Amino acid sequence: MIELIYIAAPSYSGSTLLTFLLNTHPDIATVGELKWGTIDTLTYRCSCGERLVDCAFWLSIKARVEQKGLIFDFDRPPTDFRLHNNSLGDRFMRARNRGPMFEALRSTAIATLPNCRKRIAMAAKVNNAAAEAILFLQKGRILLDASKDPVRLMHMMKTGDYNVRVLHLIRDGRGVTNSTIKKKGLDPETAANDWVQTHRQIERLTADMQDGTHRKVRYEDLCRDTVMECESIFAFLGLEASRATLSMEDTPHHVLGNAMRLESMDKIKLDESWRDELDERSLRVFESVAGLQNRRYGYE
Ligand SMILES: [Zn+2]
Repeated sequence: MIELIYIAAPSYSGSTLLTFLLNTHPDIATVGELKWGTIDTLTYRCSCGERLVDCAFWLSIKARVEQKGLIFDFDRPPTDFRLHNNSLGDRFMRARNRGPMFEALRSTAIATLPNCRKRIAMAAKVNNAAAEAILFLQKGRILLDASKDPVRLMHMMKTGDYNVRVLHLIRDGRGVTNSTIKKKGLDPETAANDWVQTHRQIERLTADMQDGTHRKVRYEDLCRDTVMECESIFAFLGLEASRATLSMEDTPHHVLGNAMRLESMDKIKLDESWRDELDERSLRVFESVAGLQNRRYGYE
């Protein structure tokens, strides 16, 4: 069994910050998001500064995975539980978790469609081989996957290869909605709805997990009291907090994920720009779609 910490969250919740902080513990190995979307390999850079295809660390991962007879192409995401053709099978594989009835339907569909079955089995093997390579090369004993996506988490859990602990990362939904509008160009209703639906899916998954295997982390706590919050997270993970430097400058990293990974992270600043940037109308839309859920998480 591979020890796995999974960060589950909507995009723009602070997962890159959490990843960099946890990565300062010597027992934790990570590449950030082990699942990645289609990338332009000519330009895409690893957080070490090298192009992904030139990064010695990633070339070693590729070599170790391919030694096992598996394919690991950088431009065709080999760790993603997808078919990449938008077929019925692909849509079933990546569809949102809508509850037990839908999950029963998904399982039946996947069992019935040979392409789906094969792809899931292959993704499981590639993830497993990549996880072992990352742990070996970074000399860690626990893998941190910051892929965020709850559907991926479900597929990973079903492989039976991992002893999983989930960090359910929560940030004020107004902050997430504001970032989603700015960075993805979505309208406020779609952005707020994405935030609600992602948290619902995570809650469905963690509701079935044993106590002590999942924990909520608030982005705002992480920014306001970084040391105390990290100590508490390491204690939850059964790790000695004093062995983590929490200094992101002196930990080598090869992290994939959003553009923040390339910026200097030595100063942690709480981003509350939504307070100035979200207009009245967007705030009203957010309130009607996600207000209740946001207050449940303690945001007034
Ligand atoms: Zn690198």
